[in-house]
Amino acid sequence: MKKVLQCYICDDEFKIGIIEKHINECTYDWNIEEVDKPEEERIPVPLEPAEFTETLQRYKLGLKKQKHEESTNPSEKEFYPVPSD
Ligand SMILES: [Zn+2]
Repeated sequence: MKKVLQCYICDDEFKIGIIEKHINECTYDWNIEEVDKPEEERIPVPLEPAEFTETLQRYKLGLKKQKHEESTNPSEKEFYPVPSD
């Protein structure tokens, strides 16, 4: 599984766990630069490539699965049945 993803805005590579935060910052920086240009010269933020989205989703699913496996581990799970009468 891929551990790093390339930012589709600045082309730098980042760990998958922090890439979303980076994309937010990168988008913000992009817009700050563009806003100084005349309107007809501004370039919109590049669209998120499908491959990028897929890799990120696969990574998140992997995390969820890991968490699920941890929480269903019987040695860590304590269960108190509520008596009913
Ligand atoms: Zn970037």
